[in-house]
Amino acid sequence: MNVPIPGEIDRRLLNDRSVSGRIGVRMPDLDVPEQPLPDSGLLRSVPAHLPEVSQPEVVRYFTTLSRMNFSIDTNFYPLGSCTMKYNPKINEEMAFLPGMGGIHPHQPDETVQGALQLIWELQSDLGEITGLPGVCLAPLAGAQGEYTGLMVARAYFADRGETARTVALIPDSAHGTNPASAAMAGLDVITVPSDSDGNVNVEALRGLVDERTCVFMLTIPSTLGLFEPNILEITSVVHEAGGLVYADGANLNALLGIVKIGDLGFDIAHSNLHKTFSTPHGGGGPGAGPVLVSEELRRFLPTPVVERTGDDYRLVAPPDTIGRVNGFHGSFGVLVRAYTYIRAVGVEGMREIAENAIINANYIRSALSGEFGIAVDRICMHECVLSPQAQKAKGVSALDISKRLIDYGIHPPTMYFPLIIPEALMVEPTETESKDTLDRFIAVMRQINREIEEDPDLLHDAPHDTPNTRLDEAGAARNPYLHWRPEQNSQAAD
Ligand SMILES: *Cc1c(COP(=O)(O)O)cnc(C)c1O
Repeated sequence: MNVPIPGEIDRRLLNDRSVSGRIGVRMPDLDVPEQPLPDSGLLRSVPAHLPEVSQPEVVRYFTTLSRMNFSIDTNFYPLGSCTMKYNPKINEEMAFLPGMGGIHPHQPDETVQGALQLIWELQSDLGEITGLPGVCLAPLAGAQGEYTGLMVARAYFADRGETARTVALIPDSAHGTNPASAAMAGLDVITVPSDSDGNVNVEALRGLVDERTCVFMLTIPSTLGLFEPNILEITSVVHEAGGLVYADGANLNALLGIVKIGDLGFDIAHSNLHKTFSTPHGGGGPGAGPVLVSEELRRFLPTPVVERTGDDYRLVAPPDTIGRVNGFHGSFGVLVRAYTYIRAVGVEGMREIAENAIINANYIRSALSGEFGIAVDRICMHECVLSPQAQKAKGVSALDISKRLIDYGIHPPTMYFPLIIPEALMVEPTETESKDTLDRFIAVMRQINREIEEDPDLLHDAPHDTPNTRLDEAGAARNPYLHWRPEQNSQAAD
C-alpha cells in the first residue's frame, strides 16, 4: 500500500473505498408491502455496484470533499452579481420541519394547506417588495425566470394580435443569460450600447425601439453596480413604442425597502431567491427565480400559482396561462428558506439590508479605487467593478489577482464581467460581512498590489496550496465527470 505523504489529501473516491459486505446503515423494517423489482430493462446494471462503506468512511469522504471546496460558511465570498450572502441556519431548520420537508407534491391541496399558505404569503411578500403584484414561484433559476417572463410578454402580445413584436433590446452590459433566454424564447436580440458613464445610451435606445419591440431587458442595478439615473425616461421611451420593460432583478439587495421596481415602470421582472433572499446557491444546486408581473400581465403567468379564498388555499392555473415551466411548484424547500428570511428580517430590516449592502460596497470602492482603478468611479449600489489595467500593464492579469486571493483564503470576485470593462473584477461584499472582514480584504488587496511590484511570479503561479491550482475551466464545464466510471477513475481523481 502506498503511504500518502504527510498532509496529502485522501483523494480516493467512494467506490475505491468500497469493501464487499461493509455496511453503514441499518434499514428500518419494511412497513409497506414488498414490491418486485421493475422490469430489468429499466435497470442500468444488476447488481447496482453501489459502494459498500462504513458510516465513518462516508462521513470522512464527504468532509474531505467539503474541505476541497469553498463556501460562504468558510470565508469571505465577494463574487459580484452572485450575492453570496450568509445563509441563516434558521432557514434550514424551517425547511426540514416535517410539514415542509416531509410532504409530497402529489398530495391533495387540503392536506397541505400550511405549505400552500406559505407559498401564497411569499407570493404576496414578493409582490409587495417589488411592486409587481402578479407572482409565480415556479421557475427554478434566474435564467428560467427570464425565459418565463419573456414567454409571458410573448403571450401578452399574441393576445393583442401584435405578432410582429419579436425583438428583445438588451444593453451591452447585460448578464449573459439575458440574450440567451431571449433567443430561447424565440426573440431576435438587438444590443443597446452603454454611454461612457456605464448608463444606457438613451438616444441609441430611442433609435432602436419601434413596432417590432417586444421587450427591453434591463439589469437593475446595472451589472456595473450602478443605479440607472435615466430609468424613468427609459421605461417611458419603451412604453411609448408599445413595448414592455423587463427588469433582471436577480440581485435586488441594494433596492430592498428603498425602491419598488414596479414604481419605476417595469412590467415584468424576475428575482433570484438564491441571491437576494439568502437561500444557498452555487454548484448547480436548487435555486428559485420567481417571475413577477404587473396586474395586466397576471393572467398569462405559468401554472400553478396559489390562490386564497377565505382560509382556503388552492393551486390554480391563471386564466390565459402560458402553461407549465417545470414539474410541480418550483423548488419548495428554497421557497421555505426565502420565506423564513423575509419573516425574520421584517419590513424594517429590508431597508437595512439595502443600506448596509450599499455602504459595504462603497467602503471597498473608496478604499481600493486609487490602487486598482474603478470602471465607473461614482457612488455604487451593492457592488463595484475594479479595472486593474495598471497591473495588467505590469504583466499581472485580473485572473492572476483572483488566483492569488485564494492563497489568502478569499474567494475571487467575478472576473472579466461585465464584458465592456477591461480586466473587470466585480466585488460584491453583501450586507452580511463585518467591517473587520472588509478591512482584511482591503489589506490583502493592497498586499497583493505590493507583490505585483516585488515578486509578480507569486501571482502567476497562484494559488499555491489548494487541492487544485489552475484548471481547464472551459473543459471542466464542457466535459464534466458527473458519475463514477471505472475506466475514467484515474483521470477523474486527478
Ligand atoms: C445570477 C444572475 C442571473 C441568472 O441566474 P441563475 O439563477 O444563475 O440562472 C441573471 N441575471 C443576473 C444579473 C444575475 O446576476
